[in-house]
Amino acid sequence: MKERLYRFFYGRYGNDALNQFLFFLEVILVVLSLFIRNFALTILFFMVFILYFYRTMSRNIYVRQQENAKFINLRSKGTHLIKAMQKNMKDKAYKHFVCPKCSQIIRVPKGKGTIEITCPNCRTKFTKKA
Ligand SMILES: [Zn+2]
Repeated sequence: MKERLYRFFYGRYGNDALNQFLFFLEVILVVLSLFIRNFALTILFFMVFILYFYRTMSRNIYVRQQENAKFINLRSKGTHLIKAMQKNMKDKAYKHFVCPKCSQIIRVPKGKGTIEITCPNCRTKFTKKA
């Protein structure tokens, strides 16, 4: 029995950051469904559950890793955008931008007009109004 179970799970993808996020989303949907009776919410719950289960049990590890890498990149871009906005609200002398390529937060002095910014991390150039 133990060996059959081991053989079943052998070569399966398992858990990653995207699946952890999907699980977190599931928990939120369950809590929401306690307060809101909505058919669309139930459908959404099952869709996320199927996706979570499919990714965990998948044997196509390479594709799952690519999806996870895209998710991590998007998540880091999102958190850096929020951080840059928070810094823009606190620090009035500087303006903070997020590099479109590597998501590095870049600080430039305010009131310089439209300038070309070179990312110190990846050397990507982009123009913004400071
Ligand atoms: Zn960069």
